[in-house]
Amino acid sequence: TDAPALLTFDNRFAQLPPAFYTRLQPTPLPAPYLVGFSEDAATAIGLDAAATRHPDFLDVFTGNRIAAGSQPLAAVYSGHQFGVWAGQLGDGRAISLGDVPAADGAGRMELQLKGSGQTPYSRMGDGRAVLRSSIREFLCSEAMAALGIPTTRALAVTGSDQRVLREAAESAAVVTRMAPSFIRFGSFEHWYYNQRFDELKILADAVLEQFYPALLQQANPYKALLSEVTRRTAELMAQWQAVGFMHGVMNTDNMSILGLTLDYGPFGFMEAFDARHICNHTDSQGRYSYQMQPRIGQWNCFALGQAMLPLVGSVEDTEAALAGYEAVFEAKQDQLLHAKLGLTTSRPDDDKLIDAMFAILQNGHVDFTLFFRRLGELQIGNPTSDEPIRDLIIDRPAFDAWAAQYRERLRAEASDDGQRRLAMHAVNPKYVLRNYLAQVAIEKAQQKDFSEVAKLQAILRRPFDEHPEHDKYADLPPGWASHLEVSCSS
Ligand code: AMP
Ligand code: MG
Ligand code: MG
Repeated sequence: TDAPALLTFDNRFAQLPPAFYTRLQPTPLPAPYLVGFSEDAATAIGLDAAATRHPDFLDVFTGNRIAAGSQPLAAVYSGHQFGVWAGQLGDGRAISLGDVPAADGAGRMELQLKGSGQTPYSRMGDGRAVLRSSIREFLCSEAMAALGIPTTRALAVTGSDQRVLREAAESAAVVTRMAPSFIRFGSFEHWYYNQRFDELKILADAVLEQFYPALLQQANPYKALLSEVTRRTAELMAQWQAVGFMHGVMNTDNMSILGLTLDYGPFGFMEAFDARHICNHTDSQGRYSYQMQPRIGQWNCFALGQAMLPLVGSVEDTEAALAGYEAVFEAKQDQLLHAKLGLTTSRPDDDKLIDAMFAILQNGHVDFTLFFRRLGELQIGNPTSDEPIRDLIIDRPAFDAWAAQYRERLRAEASDDGQRRLAMHAVNPKYVLRNYLAQVAIEKAQQKDFSEVAKLQAILRRPFDEHPEHDKYADLPPGWASHLEVSCSS
């Protein structure tokens, strides 16, 4: 075509030695159509909404046409899956197109097609992704970004009528996802366990130079890198816990070296609160349950520390770099929970108040999102303002006793109802991607009606706003939703 290029790519990852990846072409999908598009993600790489009308858009973001400068490749990595060393994995169904300048002038964004066909790392897989999981990844990446949580982004989803066989035949789709880098903890583990310490150093040097240049000034940049990744991971875990996000498959190959939420699969948002909740129904041991996530985040940092040991130089320095995890997690969690409760100061007994609140959530399986949102409406001098919260709770005397303590605590810092309401509503989302909402959008999309994907996306783009016309999207899940199960088969 004569149209100007959509995007012009470069590929930093391709400058690494060939052992890091395999160059290959995506496998085309017939007659692609647009399922979803994120203007916010597009803006981050200097594309506007009109980009979807570009004659090459569908073909480029399905993998049917290679954009200018693109050097498609699949990267190799390894990892621990469910706590067990799994050996070599790699991009089995993701193909990196390369990177483009970020619109804010700060660095570059790598674009990957997920579901674009087999690679040398596909093992038994077909290299494809189904429409269902692609819509989930698309909606959740953009929702997490709108919640202010570090994450990979999603530019678009394209679909095709080509069938893909899972438990049933489903239609194929491709998500275009973007991040400054998709390098994983498992990318480091790969070279460590293969005892290829030269490649390990090349990888660490590239990560430092491209993403953490300030750390190159430190006496031991590798130690500083491990320490910074540990810090980011600890903060990310606190952010997940605070919105009730459960990843579902926190294997080390799904852990970002940039501290981003990465690889959306059988994730979920906490509804009826249960700290032991497991969102991935193939995780029978609950290794990745809600309450385990912070500890698993730390376990994964230790796995990265093991892999970086030859670079960091000593066990003592490695342990020192990892040692910050708990303090960072606790400080961040404390900060986020205080904000969720509308508390602007910290007092010695706050832990008791918070523990008592979680006991009420746990005992009554209270809806996590609605509880905090409605708590923002509580007025210190007006007991009737508790009614919407009490409606969520069976053991009302327990709640009333807690609310009395909470009010006392609010009075102690001379909290203002109006200001606190605004502050709490800015951190406690009204809308999260409940499984049933995604399911409704997916079922419509399977009938080629993509309007619900767009509608959900528009609501989740401003999760803290009231959107009174969309109140029902904030409701408790309907009865049928309790049968929804999400697995890794995506
Ligand atoms: P995940 O559980 O999605 O993080 O994937 C774990 C590993 O399996 C990664 O190496 C993926 O690339 C690979 N994989 C998952 N699904 C497929 C598929 N349909 N085809 C090829 N490889 C896959
Ligand atoms: Mg993965
Ligand atoms: Mg916890």
